[in-house]
Amino acid sequence: MSETREIVEQCKVLYEDLSLASVKEWKQRTGGRAIGFMPVYAPRELVHAAGMLPVGIMGGGENLEIIKGDAYFQSYICHIPRSTIELGVTGRLDCLDGMLFPAICDVIRNLSGMWQMLFKDKLVRYLDLPQEFTKEIGGTFYKQELQGLVHELEKLGGKKVTPEALRHSIKLFNENRRAIERLYNARAETPENLPTYELYLVMRASNVLPVEEHTALVEKYLAAAARQKRNKLDNARVVVTGAFCEQPPIALIRALEASGCYVVDDDWVLGARYLLGDVAMGEDPLQDLANAYLGDCVETASRYETRLEKGAFLIERVKRYRAEGVVFCAPSFCDPALLERPMLVEALNRANVPHTSFNYAENTSQYHVFKEQTGTFADSIKLWGTA
Ligand code: SF4
Repeated sequence: MSETREIVEQCKVLYEDLSLASVKEWKQRTGGRAIGFMPVYAPRELVHAAGMLPVGIMGGGENLEIIKGDAYFQSYICHIPRSTIELGVTGRLDCLDGMLFPAICDVIRNLSGMWQMLFKDKLVRYLDLPQEFTKEIGGTFYKQELQGLVHELEKLGGKKVTPEALRHSIKLFNENRRAIERLYNARAETPENLPTYELYLVMRASNVLPVEEHTALVEKYLAAAARQKRNKLDNARVVVTGAFCEQPPIALIRALEASGCYVVDDDWVLGARYLLGDVAMGEDPLQDLANAYLGDCVETASRYETRLEKGAFLIERVKRYRAEGVVFCAPSFCDPALLERPMLVEALNRANVPHTSFNYAENTSQYHVFKEQTGTFADSIKLWGTA
């Protein structure tokens, strides 16, 4: 087995383990607690500084049969809340001592309410992220929000979150973000050597591994991928966007690549890349975390940014990664992604960037339609430079 294959297989085991065996093993080994968090962005540094393991929960994916989860929600909403409830009520998330629900949409807000009613003995917190980005207003509010979370974590863990501990955690997550940046740059440079389904699984491992272990894993994969040369195909370079919350099934990601596209940027597992650049490590690390959230971050549908023209960030990504087109790939019924799409489409049209779009569900099992669509898109880019 090749080195990369071996690493990716380890990541796949973690990805498929919906009962979080690796988290249970970590808890047994360290005596620490584990706190789950939903997409998109959560301040994992705080959880880490409290001596706990932050665990990313991204629904049940394609391998979970929904038996009870459907009963909690109406028909016309996305799939991730159903599968997350299913994971919860079937005991698969019992090893989590708490759950954070970052503000992203009404569905997540409602899910946090259900969680409070269903799991009364756990820490459940709706994390109200600001939609105003000045230090005076959004910054003051967010710092208070972080302070509240710190108090709850301290109460739960019986351990003070000291500035030193928080600075240390920030340092580790900064290193992780830098490693991930190198990973994305390497894929954009030689996408043939870092297939996207491999990169995706390496990224998903960040949900359950301690941050230092994940950074080491990324570095190991990067080194192995650089050694393993693969054939370069005449594929179209595309940016995939819209999949920041409910994740597409792995088979769909593979179908996208097999259709003739090299994905050179994407927004899945976005929380791990949400902050652009390092968080400062000054006297007041809580303020530093708040400032980082207000400052240089990705543009995504759950963030109401007025400082940038809508679509400017996407176009900047297209240019930076020398993409030839954009694939809008969003979960069905995802209001944030689907309401934002027309504005992004308009921006791409103005910039003459070809695009195509489709919707999925995390448990979709039919891929050939997507494959044909993106295959035709890639062909038309290659033949005519447009779609
Ligand atoms: S997939 Fe979209 S609508 Fe559903 S929970 Fe996530 S952000 Fe909200």
